Amino acid sequence: MNQINSEQFDNFKSVAVALKLTVDGLQDFVHGKLRSLHQNIYRKCSMGQCKVDCSRRYGNEFVRWCKTCHAWKKELNQINRYRNHWDKIKWKKLDTMDFPFSHEEVAKVFVQDFTHVRQGVLEDLNALMSLFRNTKVFHRIVNDNLITDIQGLRNKYFAHNYSLSIHAVEKAQCYDLLIALLKIPDIACTQSSKIALNLLEEMKLSQNIPERILRKPDVQYTITVIQNISCRETIESTHDNGIAFLNLYDRVDNEQFDIKRSTELLKITQRNRKKMFRQFVFLLVLLSECTFTILYGLYSKETVPVKGLNNVQNKLIIDTKDGEVIN
Ligand SMILES: [Zn+2]
Repeated sequence: MNQINSEQFDNFKSVAVALKLTVDGLQDFVHGKLRSLHQNIYRKCSMGQCKVDCSRRYGNEFVRWCKTCHAWKKELNQINRYRNHWDKIKWKKLDTMDFPFSHEEVAKVFVQDFTHVRQGVLEDLNALMSLFRNTKVFHRIVNDNLITDIQGLRNKYFAHNYSLSIHAVEKAQCYDLLIALLKIPDIACTQSSKIALNLLEEMKLSQNIPERILRKPDVQYTITVIQNISCRETIESTHDNGIAFLNLYDRVDNEQFDIKRSTELLKITQRNRKKMFRQFVFLLVLLSECTFTILYGLYSKETVPVKGLNNVQNKLIIDTKDGEVIN
């Protein structure tokens, strides 16, 4: 990596954290609106329950979908803005049978390329902007220009910013846009937005991220990942060589994804160990039972009285009772 100006690198870290805090700030608004939307549709589509997960099983063969999945799709189409987006939905990657139980699964319908989002669609700024753009209910609150500007700054100053540096003016521009989004009245009245706005206003005026914000686990994690990338990577002049840069945002996600995957692998290993132990104990018990059965069989053979001998013994007893023994 080329020598990074430390002030500009601080600006980059500051904007990365601001993006994360903005997503946190939008949570109450997004979940609140989606829950209300979901409940309205639920009331209209409360007939039966899908048993086969029509979208996964039949994909775009809508004629084979059950009545419930059809009803949900029809209602969602009512709030979709663009026909172009609707026609490109990858239904096979969705679970329509979960629609009645999950507003997040419903939200995926309106997120472009939702399958590329590694974490939850409601925890990704780009996915949220896509949801705002494609849904009538959000579009009435957040205008398209702001959505375009925020997607642009996220890509230019963070996701595709391979220099890992941002000028002070650019940093101020980023903060102004993010604060403008959180200050939209419908959003600003929520608790999560108030908290995020408070933090962003403070960070906008600071060269470094204030200590109390740095102590937040999520913020620490973002900073650690960025520092690891900046220390570890030597970004060659790959543009000149015609080799595409990796998307930084994806790499930050990948780091998080790798940690989650490692944890999953550890859990799987532990589960396998427990399973092997249980199988071992089962075999041991089985072996013990077999050994016991064989030994019992052998012992029984030695002690079971011979039928003929019994008769002789009985005869002897009878004869003795009569007072004489007959040989
Ligand atoms: Zn169905």
